[in-house]
Amino acid sequence: MPNWELVRQDFSELRQTMNGERLAYLDNAATSLKPKSVIERLLSFYQQENANVHRGTYQLSFKATEEYEDARKVIQHFINAAAAREIIFTRGTTEGINLIASTYGEQNIEPGDEIVISLAEHHSNLIPWQQLALRKKATLKYINLTSTGEIDLADAKQKITAKTKIVAVTHVGNVLGNVSPIRKLAELAHQNGAIIVVDGAQAVCHLPVDVQELAADFYAFSGHKMLGPTGIGVLYGKQKLLEQMPPYQFGGEMIEDVQLDNSKWDQIPHKFEAGTPNIAGAIGLATAVKYLEQVGMAQVKARDAELMAYLLPKLMAIPGVKIYGSQNPQQHVGVVSFNLGTLHPHDVATALDMEGVAVRAGHHCAEPLVHSLGTNSTVRASLAFYNYQADCDQLINAIKETKEFFKGELR
Ligand code: PMP
Repeated sequence: MPNWELVRQDFSELRQTMNGERLAYLDNAATSLKPKSVIERLLSFYQQENANVHRGTYQLSFKATEEYEDARKVIQHFINAAAAREIIFTRGTTEGINLIASTYGEQNIEPGDEIVISLAEHHSNLIPWQQLALRKKATLKYINLTSTGEIDLADAKQKITAKTKIVAVTHVGNVLGNVSPIRKLAELAHQNGAIIVVDGAQAVCHLPVDVQELAADFYAFSGHKMLGPTGIGVLYGKQKLLEQMPPYQFGGEMIEDVQLDNSKWDQIPHKFEAGTPNIAGAIGLATAVKYLEQVGMAQVKARDAELMAYLLPKLMAIPGVKIYGSQNPQQHVGVVSFNLGTLHPHDVATALDMEGVAVRAGHHCAEPLVHSLGTNSTVRASLAFYNYQADCDQLINAIKETKEFFKGELR
């Protein structure tokens, strides 16, 4: 078992006060904090190792190229991809999903085809498919959710048919924190000749992820939600699919040969990495992965579960707090959304901030889901393994004080 007190010390951002209070950072689903090793790695890269990759003919460039390509291997092993060339560096989850919609989608979707997503999707895994369907005169279908916000597998069986070409679902929901049955959905997709795209943005920081075990064809995630820098992300894709797809962007780094009237593309993954990549970002992300591996993803998962098991019953016990989704802590992987009576979530979040508690309020970029919960917005608290029971207590006390403050207006 890691020493959580020592782990916490690696996150210097936690050592400050906010509005004169101890900081309880509970907005990890928006972005995670960065450990010392990641910050120091970025600094040392820029101080001593900065050079462009792949084309250099000098030591610094060889070294930068080696570090960048090693980062790819670190990611490959982290998610158990079959080969490093199945790892494409992107700007984040959003870019990864847009890449698939604009390449695989453009190439394979025809009028009358169907794309199946779920009602739980973040806009990043909704709008690219919606727009592709509009461009191609295809149909976008939504898998319904159960009363606790889980993917309704019986409905998925109805919606995924021989007409389906793409199934795209989130692994862990960013509003309710529920885990989707990816393996079962992948089987349904494959039985019908479709591919499955998984939005892993909220999963990689909470669960051990094995893309082969999940049978995912594509799996997209963001570095900044898993201790890494912003502006770097990963798209995993099965080699056979990536090889058949056209490039996403054109320019330097992605070509084998350029003639006046035509060009040939480089092999994967370079075919999908046009232009100078985010070299420091990839190296920083690999450092973040090594940090997670050192803590251990099984321990991260257990710690999240332990904190949620502590927090959820206390939240539920406050009269006037409405929890969305399941009442079972195990079905809230790091995330819980709630409202406090009729108070506006933005007012609640502002009041919590006054007590040093950082949470998010709004539709969390998942408007269809939040509307299906019967509201326009919620307050969302999201945990990471470096949180403490003290952060949960601070949230609970701050909610009670907010309730007291607004007691005249609370219904
Ligand atoms: N999908 C989910 C489930 C998310 O939570 C997020 C980030 N809030 C995204 C996609 C988009 O990630 P990014 O903004 O890093 O591209």
